[in-house]
Amino acid sequence: MIKGLMQDRPLLVSTLIEHAARWHAQAEIVSRTCEGPIHRCTWGDIDRRARQAAEALTALGVRPGDRVATLAWNGYRHLELYYGVSGMGAVLHTVNPRLFPEQIEYIINHAGDRILFFDLSFVPLVERLVRAKTPLERYVLLTDREHRPPCDIPGLICHEDLIGAQPGDYRWPQFDENTASSLCYTSGTTGNPKGVLYSHRSSVLHSWAVCAADGLAVSAHETALLVVPMFHVNAWGMPYAGAMSGARLVLPGPALDGRSLYELMRDERVTLALGVPTVWLMLLQHVDGAGLRPADELCLTRVVIGGSSAPRAISERFATTFGAFVVHAWGMTEMSPVGTVCNLLPKHAGCTAEERLTIQEKQGRPVYGVDLKIVDDDGVSLAHDGKAAGHLLVRGPWITGGYYREEAGCVDEAGFFDTGDVATIDSDGYLQITDRAKDVIKSGGEWISSIALENAAIGHPAVAEAAVIAVEHEKWQERPLLIVVCRPGSTLDRETMLAFLKGRVADWWLPDDVVFVDELPHTATGKLHKLRLRQMFRDYRPPPG
Ligand code: AMP
Repeated sequence: MIKGLMQDRPLLVSTLIEHAARWHAQAEIVSRTCEGPIHRCTWGDIDRRARQAAEALTALGVRPGDRVATLAWNGYRHLELYYGVSGMGAVLHTVNPRLFPEQIEYIINHAGDRILFFDLSFVPLVERLVRAKTPLERYVLLTDREHRPPCDIPGLICHEDLIGAQPGDYRWPQFDENTASSLCYTSGTTGNPKGVLYSHRSSVLHSWAVCAADGLAVSAHETALLVVPMFHVNAWGMPYAGAMSGARLVLPGPALDGRSLYELMRDERVTLALGVPTVWLMLLQHVDGAGLRPADELCLTRVVIGGSSAPRAISERFATTFGAFVVHAWGMTEMSPVGTVCNLLPKHAGCTAEERLTIQEKQGRPVYGVDLKIVDDDGVSLAHDGKAAGHLLVRGPWITGGYYREEAGCVDEAGFFDTGDVATIDSDGYLQITDRAKDVIKSGGEWISSIALENAAIGHPAVAEAAVIAVEHEKWQERPLLIVVCRPGSTLDRETMLAFLKGRVADWWLPDDVVFVDELPHTATGKLHKLRLRQMFRDYRPPPG
């Protein structure tokens, strides 16, 4: 073999912001701030302020490899820290404020964070952290002096004072592309959260996949609304892909209710929006409640949905009411996160709307860089027939090989990571997640997909949200129990719900019972908290029959 002669330039996160500043300097970053008003700046401004942040961090004694934490919504100051912190070789630790305070304390200790940047909304949480024992040495409030509230945080400094004093002519250092760039903890429903440590190389390679036409097709033509939080898996890589492509970004701050999002989409002429199903359900409720006509008022063409399964009903509503195409995607914190994306193939050109919706229910095909397979309990690969469901294993350059500060790796000898998901793959390569392995309902030796049942139930107009869990059964070991939250002002009974499901799922999948509740428990990343639901319904027994 002979060595290639191409230049060996490291893939660094700083190259993304350098590119955006040179070639897309005027593309806008629009933020709804915690202080209230809409703020406008450009990629050029983000670059300058990121350099100022790097200078300020250096002056504070932050060294390459140190962990710098954020507790912040999606906004321009958070974006400049993405580049300032990682660009200087330190590690940006985006903390999920929706975790329990004890978990936040745990991960700040585990990460060994030295400095915490935080938004105004989190002052009480940070006051609590100050009283706890953590390695934090400095606290920076992401605002200016005028908006600083009285608070009990020693040595507190305002972000604008911190960076405003710096010249902003910092030169990004060059170093090994395998250096850690950011850290994000999984919100495991059991045990302590685990740290996923991304590298510069993995973040840049992942951005290319996000920008690719058969990935999320992010380009300079898009105005992208990032509803997915920047504290959850780097907002699906969009802060990096945005700079790589020069897209115009819209960052919604703390206002994630249906009305605020709708107004932002309309006023900022958003073309692409990304978020988990729950936020889109809230948006749709707002549109229905206020009698709006999004297709006439908005420029939305695509909505990327991931994090949980996108029910057919949501894709249908976006198509009919908004004239927008839902791009269903699957991934996880351990995968940076993008694994599969549901784009259509040339053979689907003549599909009917109904046929298209059936494809959109699937999580899509692997993007280049993600090698995946489904296997049975013995590790034997299963057929791609759209029916055989098995454990989903993945490997690739933006998939984790281990967790932060854990000795043992988390991959098998062939380098595959077990996602904990169960999936089918059809003959066109479309993956469909049927369950988390621990949520599968094992009935009489067969598996029932809780996700498929939930998505079918959501199709009923009176249903706001639905969860399906396994309950013990004498004869069948486990049977599905459907738990439903009705839309405000709607009523529904067990018989009507079951009659609706009949014909939409196999008869033997039909839930043994339907229970109505006011709300369902969620995890810190907005997923249904099935473990808690199973605990709540531990003693539940379905009616005889
Ligand atoms: P997180 O690491 O918090 O992003 O969670 C990752 C998990 O969310 C995956 O392992 C899946 O179980 C679930 N997930 C993500 N996207 C989807 C999707 N489109 N459909 C179904 N489940 C999903």
